Amino acid sequence: MRFDRRKFVQLLGAVSADLGLAGSPASVSEAQPTPGRPPAAHAIDRSATIHRKNVVAIQVKPFCWVDEGVDKVLDTIEEKGNVNTVFVYTYDYDGSHITRGGTKPLPDHGRYSPDRQRMGGAFYDYDLKYFQDTTLRDFRSHDEPNLNVITAVSPSMKARGMQFFAWDYNNAFPVMMQSIPGLTEVAEIDVYGRRTSGACFNHPNFRAHLTGKIESYLSQYPSEVDGIIWGCERMGPIDNLIGGGWATAGICCFCSFCCAKAQARGVSVARAREGYIQLDRLFQTAAHQQRPSDGYFVAFLRTLFEYPEILSWNMLWHDSYHEVRSELYGTAKSIAPSKPFGFHVMQNITFSPFYSAADSYAKLSHYSDFLKIATYNNAAGPRLANFIHRLCQTGTVALTRNRARCVQVMGVKPSRYHNCS
Ligand SMILES: [Zn+2]
Repeated sequence: MRFDRRKFVQLLGAVSADLGLAGSPASVSEAQPTPGRPPAAHAIDRSATIHRKNVVAIQVKPFCWVDEGVDKVLDTIEEKGNVNTVFVYTYDYDGSHITRGGTKPLPDHGRYSPDRQRMGGAFYDYDLKYFQDTTLRDFRSHDEPNLNVITAVSPSMKARGMQFFAWDYNNAFPVMMQSIPGLTEVAEIDVYGRRTSGACFNHPNFRAHLTGKIESYLSQYPSEVDGIIWGCERMGPIDNLIGGGWATAGICCFCSFCCAKAQARGVSVARAREGYIQLDRLFQTAAHQQRPSDGYFVAFLRTLFEYPEILSWNMLWHDSYHEVRSELYGTAKSIAPSKPFGFHVMQNITFSPFYSAADSYAKLSHYSDFLKIATYNNAAGPRLANFIHRLCQTGTVALTRNRARCVQVMGVKPSRYHNCS
């Protein structure tokens, strides 16, 4: 059964109005990057969400259920961690798994996975009626064709009093472009006109793909799925230029949808393009230690002053990212208002001033029932060190390409940095 579109639009309007974003599409099929604020709409009744008390959650990859068996995994996490909620990967293109001598040396994993290449995809069966507004319909994983992780795991969890949350993990793994027919057509276009490995959040076809998954979880599996955790570790063009981990290649996005959205905001596409090419040149010179006559930081600031469109384009990307997430939240609430819908927040928000300035908790709070913030061991350690190292390489923050100075500008205690580098 299709959900109520009118109610969906109302929910989208409410969320977007709270965010102060550009107008949300009236429907997925009508989605256009139109300007202006949406009309006043009914507010979402956040009190309808029913939260479990004292949630102890863990995320579990698909191969774990296959390697060890459903009950063995549930026994372990229940006994060792008192877990009462599982974020079950239902959509994931991360090919890594547990092999002897592999990249994930987890000694307490019960059995090694079969040593073969994995492609990822959806680890559940979805009804195509939820994907009528998109051509991106063929994404069922062939790694475990007989595993429907929702029907295979949820009943055993329910018998134990545990809750099943669909973990919809949307990182832009390049393999997705090879394995999802049509995905290249919605790819972000970089400043030089090249297609990249990430899909564009402003492309209606991709948005309908994302929305369809939320519909399928909640409408097709109403008694098995208790909530949704959604994540996508991606960043805007400035963060991708800086790099330092989790960056995707390409200064994006300059596709026709993004350019139209920029023009509607009064941002010059030509000036933004010119500015990012200048910035890219500056970063290239820093990488080759060709110091500008006024120094790296002055040159960086001067480029921003001369091309404020650089900042506008970066916010265009992040506003679009907020907009997509608020739409997914609105979709979920129109189907199952009592079920919690939360977001994974990538580790960069804990150490990158550029990322946290754009993807603020304040904005996230308008459309989230809960947040899962990546604060685990190597997010606070090696990744922070990598990020600072990269800042020094680019000369973005380091006034003199001096690492100690850079650490101070970042607001990080030098002792903390030295402990993790
Ligand atoms: Zn785009």
